[in-house]
Amino acid sequence: EFGEDEGDEGDLVARPPVVTVMGHVDHGKTKLLDAIRHTNEVAREAGGITQHIGAYQISTEHEGEDRRITFIDTPGHEAFTAMRARGAKVTDIAVLVVAADDGVKPQTIEALNHAQAADVPIVVAVNKVDKEGADPNKVRAQLTEYGLVAEEYGGTTMFVNISAKNGTGIDELLEAILLTADAELDLRANPTMDAQGVAIEAHLDKGRGPVATVLVQRGTLRVGDSIVCGEAFGRVRAMVADNGKLIDEADPSRPVQVLGLTAVPGAGDNFIVVTDDRMARQIAQQRAARKRIADMARSGRRRTLEELFSEMEKGQVDELKLIIKGDVSGSVEALEDALLKIDVGDEVRLRVLHRAVGAITEYDVNLAVADDNAVIIGFNVRPEVRARDLAEREGVDIRYYSVIYQAIEEIEAALKGMLKPEYEEVQMGTAEVREVFKVPKIGNIAGALVRSGTIVRNSKARIIRGGVVISDNLTVSSLRRFKDDATEVREGYECGIGVGYNDIKIDDVIETFEMREKPRV
Ligand code: GDP
Repeated sequence: EFGEDEGDEGDLVARPPVVTVMGHVDHGKTKLLDAIRHTNEVAREAGGITQHIGAYQISTEHEGEDRRITFIDTPGHEAFTAMRARGAKVTDIAVLVVAADDGVKPQTIEALNHAQAADVPIVVAVNKVDKEGADPNKVRAQLTEYGLVAEEYGGTTMFVNISAKNGTGIDELLEAILLTADAELDLRANPTMDAQGVAIEAHLDKGRGPVATVLVQRGTLRVGDSIVCGEAFGRVRAMVADNGKLIDEADPSRPVQVLGLTAVPGAGDNFIVVTDDRMARQIAQQRAARKRIADMARSGRRRTLEELFSEMEKGQVDELKLIIKGDVSGSVEALEDALLKIDVGDEVRLRVLHRAVGAITEYDVNLAVADDNAVIIGFNVRPEVRARDLAEREGVDIRYYSVIYQAIEEIEAALKGMLKPEYEEVQMGTAEVREVFKVPKIGNIAGALVRSGTIVRNSKARIIRGGVVISDNLTVSSLRRFKDDATEVREGYECGIGVGYNDIKIDDVIETFEMREKPRV
């Protein structure tokens, strides 16, 4: 299956870096992606029409050589995190866009944390230098605090001043990307293998059926290949490149639209080429069957943390093992440090089996299953669908927290056999965002489908993207059915939801909940 094995060392050849553009909202990510695409359209041979397929590749001259760079065409760290949450490593280099007139902002730091957590080198694009009040040096100074020290300041991070609007500095930015790639990464792949890679975008097209943009990561993908991608499979009927042209072969780091799949895969699903259609069907069916079994077994027994604590109090268990998953490495480490510092005397012990950044995966659940009394702590993250099913089937307890001290208090209190927390979170309803509407003066409203439970006006809400909590402590401040205000909307119905979060996107999940007083035991 999917793996890192590249075959013979001798077959490895250089492949283009894959770049994701991240940064604070309105700092110019989209504009920059357009500007970069544009530099290349001039040079591109006539005949093709630019297609927005989720990624594009450009070529540029670097030290006398013709070099290519692939850009993921979805700006922002959400897509990056969502794909990483599914275990897909897509990005080689992150371009951090910071507007020189606005400076470092919360999402700049978030993006930076995500890139650093993924061990992805960063190139900083200091944008909007054409604007009055732009202060590119301030951006450099600000980022020093976060470990990004510009070369001019004696550091190793490349900063490039650009204006995405005027198109200045773009060539220098491409140059910096290639210099960083050459200095810090060994980007090689074996094009002679069967292709492997990852789906970065997929949808159902009325005329063409399922259409998936995949990024080939190793090997060469060819028309006629049988592939499995997540639970979808099929034979590659045709491939369309980002210039709209049909191509027969796609080499490593090339994004390409694939036609011929039987179903729509998810963004972040890995794909592999297999020997024939039968094999592809078999693997896909096995994956689907595994999911069905998990669905059927939902009613399985659950052992709660409370039960576990009570066993500990009775002396039946004397060690609590934890698996900690969080949204960024900083929070995971802080939580682990704090938990390990809890003084619980000699009777009980606390041990962290595993900690990592990203959504809770099947691996984590399996680890908890393997170790009888392990509990999974999700800090601002949620389980992947398969992991959730597996946890329910196996009775693994997953605890969700979004504030570190709450996690510590609750676990400390329980470990000491003391009071349980007075309030607990009660899940109310979840809704999937299908559309986003701009409403003057109010902001962005989500057109959503209620997936489970009931969405109730004024309840608390958080936004989950690709298994990761990206915004918390929100309130359902407006709720509408068609043109009318509603107090609640049930499962299966569509509605408009406003939570005061403007960066809401299609496919986000709105999770609503209420804090209720917890009965004392
Ligand atoms: P994103 O939210 O990061 O994708 O930001 P956009 O690319 O949508 O840009 C936000 C706003 O800033 C838009 O109105 C752009 O036209 C403007 N903008 C982007 N880059 C520049 C630039 O280099 N100079 C100036 N003056 N404006 C820019």
